[in-house]
This record gives sequence, C-alpha cells and structure tokens, in this order.
Amino acid sequence: MRITVLGTGYLGATHAAAMAELGFEVLGVDVDPVKVDALSRGELPFHEPGLPELLRKHTGTGRLRFTTSYEQAGAFGDVHFVGVGTPQRPGSQAADMSYVEAAVTAIAAAATRDCVIAGKSTVPVGSARRLAALAAEHARDGVSVELVWNPEFLREGFAVADTLSPDRMVLGIADDTGGAAAEAVLRQVYARQLGSGVPLIVTDYETAELVKVAANAFLATKISFINALSEITETAGGDIRTLADAIGMDERIGRKFLNAGVGFGGGCLPKDIRALRARAAELGVGESVRFLAEVEDINTRRREHTVATVTEMLGGSVVGAQVAVLGAAFKPDSDDVRDSPALDIAARLHSIGAEVAVVDPQANANAAARYPRLDYVESLEAAVAGAEVVVLLTEWARFKAMTPEELAPLVAERRILDGRNVLDPARWTDAGWDYRALGRRATP
Ligand code: NAD
Repeated sequence: MRITVLGTGYLGATHAAAMAELGFEVLGVDVDPVKVDALSRGELPFHEPGLPELLRKHTGTGRLRFTTSYEQAGAFGDVHFVGVGTPQRPGSQAADMSYVEAAVTAIAAAATRDCVIAGKSTVPVGSARRLAALAAEHARDGVSVELVWNPEFLREGFAVADTLSPDRMVLGIADDTGGAAAEAVLRQVYARQLGSGVPLIVTDYETAELVKVAANAFLATKISFINALSEITETAGGDIRTLADAIGMDERIGRKFLNAGVGFGGGCLPKDIRALRARAAELGVGESVRFLAEVEDINTRRREHTVATVTEMLGGSVVGAQVAVLGAAFKPDSDDVRDSPALDIAARLHSIGAEVAVVDPQANANAAARYPRLDYVESLEAAVAGAEVVVLLTEWARFKAMTPEELAPLVAERRILDGRNVLDPARWTDAGWDYRALGRRATP
C-alpha cells in the first residue's frame, strides 16, 4: 500500500513521516516548492520535537519523498491523506475551505488507480459529503475514488507521539458499500495502532467532522472557564491554582486544561470555535453555540488584563519602559505564533509605547515575520537586561526554571508578571520581587 499526504505543514509533515515509520512508501505533496525542497533534503521547516530525526531517517532510505506534482501523486497513491490548511476566511469567521477543495479536486482528477481520499484537516460539518461528490465528479472514468473523514487530534509539541499512538481514531465513512470498502483500507493503514489497542470509532461523515470541532470547542471552553474564575480570585482573593487542583481531582472534571493564564491561541482553537459558530449560524442553529462568543471574549479579556497589569506594575504608564517578554510561541515546544497570546500581548504593549524585548527559544523568526517592529533577542539574559518588568507568557522549560537570584543582577527593577502561573510565588516574593500572577491577587 502506498500513501500520499497532501499538504506538508505541521499536520501533514508529521503524518507523512509517521506513515513512513509504520513501513509505508510515502509521497508528501505541497504547493510550496520551498517547503518541498527543504523536506526532500530531510530538513524540517518548523520546530517539532522528534520529527527531524524521523524525517531524516526516512528521507535517507528513500521511503519518504516529497513533490509538488499531483500527477505523480495520482499515479502513486492508494490512500491520499488531506492535511492542507483550513484557516479563517479573511473578513469572516468561517473556515476557508478553498485549499481542501483544491486538493481533493486535484487528486481526484490526477488519480490513475483506485484510491481512498482520507480527509484529516479540520472542516465544518457537512464538508465531507460535499467533497465526496466533488471527488466523484472529477475522478477519471474507470477509476474508483472513495472519501473518508479521519480527523486529526495531534498536539504541536507532541505531534509524533500523538500520531503514532493516538488516544483514539475516528473514521467517518459514506453510508454505502464504498464506505465499508474504504474503512477496510484505512484499517489496514492503521493496523499497527489498532493492534496495540488504540480505539477506532467508525461513524458517519458528520459525526467524524464534529468530533474534532467539538473537542476543540470543549478544550477552549475549559480554558476560558478557569480564566473566568481567575477574574474572580484576582478580585475576591483566593488562589486559582489551588482551586483548579481541587476541582480537577473530580474525575468528571479532570485537571488538564484548567491552567489559568493568558489564554488559548494557536492555529486551531481560536479559528475552530469561530468556524463552528459560523457553521451553526449557516445551519440556522447559531444559538446552540452562542456561549462560544463568551468563551472567546473571556480569552481576549485575559490579554487586555495582562497589558493592564503590566501598566499598573509600571506605575500607570508603559511609555518608554523596558519590558522583557518571555515567549512568543502560542505554547512551549513549538515555533507556531498563529494567534499567539504571547505575541499579541507583546505587540499590544509595544503599540502603547513600551520598549519590548522578546525572547523565544524557537519562535523568534516566525514572530519577527509577523511583528517586525518588536526587538527580538537570543537569550533570556539579553531580554531581561535593564528590564523594568519581566513578563512570562509562554511556559518554556527554560523560563520555568529561572530563579529570582539569577535575574536580579540583570534587571533594572525586580518586577515579574507570571502569565502562566508556573513560578513559585513565595520564592519570588521572598527574594524581594514584585511578583504578580494571573488569577492570584497581588500580595499587599
Ligand atoms: P499548515 O499551514 O502548517 O500546513 C498546510 C500546508 O498545506 C502548507 O504547507 C500549504 O503550503 C499546504 N497547501 C495548501 N494548499 C495546498 C494544496 N492545494 N495542495 C497541497 N498542499 C497545499 O497547517 P497545519 O497546522 O498543518 O493544519 C492543517 C490542517 O490540520 C488544518 O485544518 C488544521 O486545523 C488541522 N489540524 C492541525 C493541527 C495542528 O496542531 N497544527 C492539529 C490537528 C488538526
């Protein structure tokens, strides 16, 4: 069985390398020739722990190759995974489906052998049924093209492990005999995972599409829930971490995703909840997920509150103040700055007059491409040198491990805002710092 992966970004490059690791011959396809050249040389154009090794291993043996040619892909693949982007459509909340439509149309038209198209991108409910019709319309005479929906749940930073050993797999299939045949093909592709006990949920297209969107909406809601509570503890007193620990011990709630802080971001959660709202409105059931507007508002308020707290710590104005921003990526172990709270807060501080020095172990280049006017430095020491306030916004291991003693000789003023609740408040306060954290009232 030979596999192609259409779109070789975070999802696609990981999936392609993982499929090679499972023993398949794999062809990755992307419209970006620069990306294809880099991947072909075994060089990963983004940061993802463990993936460079896997990529080099399999490009080295020739089992994993990359191309820009759909013609080559159509002649090669038995299964074509679709992992192209579904960003927010400009000027709208809805998902931009043009990349997925282009990929499905192109591969259906190029396929010269019977094949299965397996959609992995995150799409609005109703897309798969439409894409299946599109594929059938463009398929060559005598070539069977079946479509399944197989959403992806990987987390950046853990992408390799999540792809090779996911918590569960979901497969949406057509409600005809073609659907059952395509299911059998996908069961073969995932035989190793299924053999090691990974659950597979086989369902209809709509459920499969919605499982992914619902999971992200739930995670975003959980984060905004604890952040909403943190607005209360900041005012009334109380400790948001202890509160999260306590409610998280209830198995029905669970502790994960209950970390109060600057909120969620990245290339998935924000655009996926917006797309769900847009799709629900299109379906005439917008009211059903109206609460997601509040989830997003709470998230935005965290960013505004962070800027306000920094301003307050600086005595009411940030103009001309040296601010060290630790982190630009939306999460640690990633260089992804899409909709990153850290970068947004850095840019907001800069826009109201602060002198902002940003340091991120991996994301400086991506951040500089987005906000070139911020000052990017290569080390924690360089960022905090002369700082009047240090603002921790992405919880990289290096930042979690820093100590008040290490920073004290470098900064101009001993002030720190812990935007992720990862430092020990007593440790910093005892060392004479003005330590603040989101969700904890300032020590009087
Ligand atoms: P990405 O922007 O990193 O990658 C998309 C790639 O598709 C790019 O390399 C682009 O050049 C390529 N592309 C665009 N049009 C193409 C075409 N017609 N043919 C071939 N290649 C094409 O995006 P991503 O983060 O990998 O996300 C891809 C999809 O996966 C999205 O729907 C996203 O919501 C979903 N997803 C992402 C993650 C994640 O953590 N990044 C996790 C689960 C699901």
